[in-house]
Amino acid sequence: GNANLYALLATGFPADRSAIAIETPARSYSWNDVEEHSARYANLLRALELPAGSRIAVQVEKSPEALMLYLASVRAGLVYLPLNTAYREPEVEYFLRDAEPAVVVCDSGNQEWIARLAEKTGTAHVYTLDEEGDGSLAVAAASQSGEFATVRSLPDDLAAILYTSGTTGRSKGAMLSHRNLSSNAQVLNEYWGWRADDVLLHMLPIFHVHGLFVAAHGALLAGARMIWLPRLDIEQALRYLPQSTVMMGVPTYYVRLLNDARFTRELCRNMRLFISGSAPLLKETFDEFEARIGQPILERYGMSETVMLTSNPYDAALGERIGGTVGQPLPGVMVRVVDDAGAELGAGEIGNVQVRGPNVFSGYWRMPEKTREEFTADGWFRTGDVGRWGGDAAPANYLSIVGRSKDLIISGGFNVYPKEIELLIDDMPGVAESAVIGVAHPDFGEAVVAVIVPKEGAALDADAMMADLKSRLANFKVPKRIYFVDSLPRNTMGKVQKNMLRTQYS
Ligand code: ATP
Ligand code: MG
Repeated sequence: GNANLYALLATGFPADRSAIAIETPARSYSWNDVEEHSARYANLLRALELPAGSRIAVQVEKSPEALMLYLASVRAGLVYLPLNTAYREPEVEYFLRDAEPAVVVCDSGNQEWIARLAEKTGTAHVYTLDEEGDGSLAVAAASQSGEFATVRSLPDDLAAILYTSGTTGRSKGAMLSHRNLSSNAQVLNEYWGWRADDVLLHMLPIFHVHGLFVAAHGALLAGARMIWLPRLDIEQALRYLPQSTVMMGVPTYYVRLLNDARFTRELCRNMRLFISGSAPLLKETFDEFEARIGQPILERYGMSETVMLTSNPYDAALGERIGGTVGQPLPGVMVRVVDDAGAELGAGEIGNVQVRGPNVFSGYWRMPEKTREEFTADGWFRTGDVGRWGGDAAPANYLSIVGRSKDLIISGGFNVYPKEIELLIDDMPGVAESAVIGVAHPDFGEAVVAVIVPKEGAALDADAMMADLKSRLANFKVPKRIYFVDSLPRNTMGKVQKNMLRTQYS
């Protein structure tokens, strides 16, 4: 067979290719359109006669055409490289220099500076693609044939390079193969019970794993319709929820929906599955959601380097969905929690999360040193996340993510896990959420600092809170300072930027 990811996805397309595949508020695209448009773009890319393994860098607003461009790159056997639309010139320059793409596709509004960068960094081809699907790419593709025989790929051929979110430092390019993406798409297809009559409410950006792979691959492989919205817009979400069956979001999406009284069980009567990931979902949000909507959010865990790793069960026969946990390892994925010496830890013990499986990437683009560091001698990938099996209300086969090893605080020689303190603070009356960080301290090495977002109208007393924490925590874990803020700094994927907080409060 052909190991090309598109060949797998196409096995799921419905026999009736005139059915709707993608719907936006303005128009719909049939499965025929998906095949033809991606074929035209693929023919255009092939006509450029690029060497195997060439990168196609794409920084465009979300549109159905952008998804078809991604599919075209896969079909043509090239390496797709999506870029966050928020990146400005100096940031894009880093990615172009690092990845040396053969083609850059950008929004026509950015064409001037992107063309300048392309010239500087040696990228030969620049095309534009706008939110409405117009631009020089569409013009050039119009004369191409709507048929394309998907290139034969080997399992280990690269399909994409995904730059990590840069939460803990400079973004690294994770090299993902056709096998990495296909194996994960197949596992999730079954694990989450994807069906041809599903309707996916797609409101995530498509420059990350979550929106591009987990969400879009899921619907494509199931032959299910997608409602394609550029971002979370509450009015649009409320409008489309009644006809949807599956939604994926980052935790802030659920917080924002719950803030609207029109988000009700009745509105979600057709919904069979709400999925959350990319950042920790607060237990409070999980509980409030279940009380209001009558079904628990399914939280899962993954990253750019590995696609999806663990998931709370969809099928009740596999267990309950437990808030505050990221569930069980997906079929075929191996997960272990180890101490700093590499010894495997049992239930309840906190340690480093390591993984292996057909979904795990082959390495960081042009960072052989970093790649070697992040894999153990016996082939496990060090995720950089800290976690534990079981605990509180969870059985021993459920994983909880406690934080990132880089966020670990060492105060007076003791390890402090920010999450432990955040959970206590979040439970205090009047607290909406919190972030606990370590800042340099002359005596302790690092001192614990808490940054707290009060609930609307709540008047919080820092001294009283510290006194309360003192009665419940060892002294070295108690925040030396508490700061109140209106909101925590978050990136597009809803991740709290602890780097920024550390700089700000250092
Ligand atoms: P960088 O690696 O550049 O510092 P990043 O790790 O944020 O950035 P991504 O690959 O986009 O880049 O994000 C993966 C990370 O997101 C995981 O390592 C984990 O820390 C976090 N994450 C994803 N899902 C969850 C979840 N359900 N709960 C807690 N954390 C999660
Ligand atoms: Mg990371």
